[in-house]
Amino acid sequence: MAVPKVLDMLATLIGEPSVSCTNAALDQSNLGVINHLANWLDELGFATEVMPLPDKPGKANLIARLGGGQGGLVLAGHTDTVPFDDTRWSHDPFEMTERDGRFYGLGSCDMKGFFPLAIAAAAQFVDKPLQSPLTVVATSDEESSMAGARYLAECGRLQADYAIIGEPTRAIPVYAHKGFMTLCITLQGASGHSSNPDLGRNALDAMHSVMSELLTYRSQLAQQYVNVAFDVSVPTMNLGCLRAGDNPNRICADAELQIDLRLLPGMDSDEVLDELRIRLRRVAESQGTPIDITALSTPVPPFETPVDCSLVRTLEELSGHSAGTVAFGTEGPFLQQLGMETVVFGPGDIDQAHQPDEYLSADQLQPTIDTLSEVIARYCLDSRAT
Ligand SMILES: [Zn+2]
Repeated sequence: MAVPKVLDMLATLIGEPSVSCTNAALDQSNLGVINHLANWLDELGFATEVMPLPDKPGKANLIARLGGGQGGLVLAGHTDTVPFDDTRWSHDPFEMTERDGRFYGLGSCDMKGFFPLAIAAAAQFVDKPLQSPLTVVATSDEESSMAGARYLAECGRLQADYAIIGEPTRAIPVYAHKGFMTLCITLQGASGHSSNPDLGRNALDAMHSVMSELLTYRSQLAQQYVNVAFDVSVPTMNLGCLRAGDNPNRICADAELQIDLRLLPGMDSDEVLDELRIRLRRVAESQGTPIDITALSTPVPPFETPVDCSLVRTLEELSGHSAGTVAFGTEGPFLQQLGMETVVFGPGDIDQAHQPDEYLSADQLQPTIDTLSEVIARYCLDSRAT
């Protein structure tokens, strides 16, 4: 019952490329990472199940469980990383480099670094009688589609009372984040000679009305929904990309606008989408220009765990930090759908993620192991916390 040292595990995981990307040319398998984790946890006596994702060859989740019974604790993370820009790194992204108390490498912070720490904490309990099971979960495709976590939620095979998602929060417990959705709005007009507007239907003229309506709706949402726990306390809508027309002397026939919306906990992405459809249908009728709305990605729901729940309070006590919110999305909503009281809590700083020379600070390692060990002791070993 021995696994490699924490830093050796980290170096091994960083050395396994596992980029996930909506661009198929950049998308990679995550099986290399999954297999290492499965082998180490198997070695420790966990019952491991590699769960291939349907219709996604080369992608899998891992569920590794120690101890029997109901309830217990899940330590969860994603195995994939974002793509990288090779020319901007000062180190090989796939070779862990230690310098000035930092461990550099793609995914070091977001979030391969969590797994060695979770495994080191778990290793302390392999010969102890657990009252409730300890489960380590590793998912695929968090950075692109959250397909791994969505599949877990769909299957319903993962059961536990509590879950920690080890995304980088600087070891501060996080109980809420906003949801995220991206939409594409297309307008279909008709081209014609610009000298006579009646020869066509100008899609840009209609887009002007669409944008006005969007900004009106945005203001109304910001008045209706406010949550001061967030740095940006209202839901946001960003008009991010506009493409239209080709020549000044042609009536613009086609226009496309891409937007993103970040919804507060308590808001429902389907309701927002329905409302947008109603409003833009009215614009389409008044302009005589068909308008279509499509989702560019499957929405990530907002996430919120009550601040006074057991796991939030435990992590506040152990970390010495009050729980807060973050601006990025996580797999939290999907574990919550499975009935788990879920908190995001992990080493590293999101400020170092998704960029060249990503690193994990060395001083984050041992405190995270210690905190996770104490949480496992409380939620799996005895009933102090429940
Ligand atoms: Zn992440």
